Amino acid sequence: MDIRFYNTLTNEVTRFEPLNPGRVKMYSCGPTVYDFAHVGNFRSFLFADLLRRFLELRGFDVWHVMNITDVGHMTDDVAADGLGEDKMQVAARRLKEDKKSGKVEEGAVANPDNPYEVADYFSRAFLEDGRSLGLKVVSEYPKRVPKATQFIDEMQQMISKLIQRGHAYVGSDGVVYYSVESFPRYGQLSGNTLEALRVGAGGRIDISNQSCKRHPADFMLWKPDPKHIMKWESPWGAGYPGWHIECSTMSMRVLETEVLDIHTGGEDLIFPHHECEIAQSCGATGNELFARFWMHARFLLVEGEKMSKRKGNFFTVRDILSGNATGTPVHPAVLRLELIKSHYRAHSNFTVKGLTDSANTVRRLTELGQRLRDECGGVPKEIDRAEHPVVRAFLQALANDLNISEAMTVVHAWIASPGQDAADAFGVLLALDQVLGVWELTSCDSEADDPESDIAASLCALIDEARRARDFSAADAHRQRLIGLGYEVRSSPEGTSAKKKFA
Ligand SMILES: [Zn+2]
Repeated sequence: MDIRFYNTLTNEVTRFEPLNPGRVKMYSCGPTVYDFAHVGNFRSFLFADLLRRFLELRGFDVWHVMNITDVGHMTDDVAADGLGEDKMQVAARRLKEDKKSGKVEEGAVANPDNPYEVADYFSRAFLEDGRSLGLKVVSEYPKRVPKATQFIDEMQQMISKLIQRGHAYVGSDGVVYYSVESFPRYGQLSGNTLEALRVGAGGRIDISNQSCKRHPADFMLWKPDPKHIMKWESPWGAGYPGWHIECSTMSMRVLETEVLDIHTGGEDLIFPHHECEIAQSCGATGNELFARFWMHARFLLVEGEKMSKRKGNFFTVRDILSGNATGTPVHPAVLRLELIKSHYRAHSNFTVKGLTDSANTVRRLTELGQRLRDECGGVPKEIDRAEHPVVRAFLQALANDLNISEAMTVVHAWIASPGQDAADAFGVLLALDQVLGVWELTSCDSEADDPESDIAASLCALIDEARRARDFSAADAHRQRLIGLGYEVRSSPEGTSAKKKFA
């Protein structure tokens, strides 16, 4: 069975094979931890997760790395030249406001003036969101989820190498810039040309610091800035690295290779971020290729419109799970399925109707799983993935540039008639779920039905205790936590109970 993927670099669907047989090394741009991740971020992260899980079910050993950007991502990075303010500094300011107005719980961030604490707060939030949505790479934190601030030495080594090889220089403002003219292929991934970029590329290049640079599209590698709170000593003065150099460094270091098999990200990262990563990595190694396949997920729309804070359709993962967004708490498995079920190269349209459909699928799959598990005593039959007709058809659909709609058609047909052999069917369900990750998220609920061991039960007890002490704000805080975990909460004179909701 051939695997074929669309490669942004060549604009073609071509046959995929890893450089080393049996092992795939892939890197995904992760979050900048200056805020809670929104559903659009997770659409891109879960696309990478789907890709990884497919390759694993197909039999590959996948090394998947997703970074955390905790320094150097500027507010104005369209031009990639280090203008604007570091997003972490902006986050620190906003968090301070939120703390004053009570939007951030007491004790969550002791000192919002400290960007390290802010980064830590939102990193933990990202890992929690990732865990709740079955983003597999976060279970390999910290090994495969590196933070930029842990790789400053390695970034400096790479910058020195780029200067030695004539790809970088110190501008008249003291900033170390990458010279795009030193790399003739600059623009290949995004379809830009150096000439078009010179005249400002439709206003996308800021010209205010042009005189310091050789070409308007030259981008920042190191910015000396004694006033920046997160700063490190360097041969170019105390300062901090650019966002792009972080990913070039972390990907090659953590994956232990100069050439990646696959690099993923959202389509908004193609230019300048990924274009710059290629220029840096190939500039430093002298290799023809940095990543053999570039795969990008398209934007997520919400009810047919681009998500924006102004339009009020901007939702964090937490907004959706807690029910703040739609009025009803959503089970993480439902949100996961909703975010993976449309093709990564099509605009995914996030709708309440879609969530309801996903909830139905999750319910059917879960009920089937519970029945099969009970019937076979929890002992599945070993499934030959390459031979079993259902698993094979599922894999074949995904091998065709991750055709998830076709794969879901296979799943729906199978749910409707899973066959008489419960142990065989349970084996099929577990195989399919290695990619879907639905049963994985719902079966832990049913295993946690034992109220004594259930976190939900202890939260219910805390609610009752707080109510007895007439501490209603504490009771409400516990209730909000439960809702955030996807529970429906009922309090009555007999006490409080919680039930997991699917949508
Ligand atoms: Zn990146």
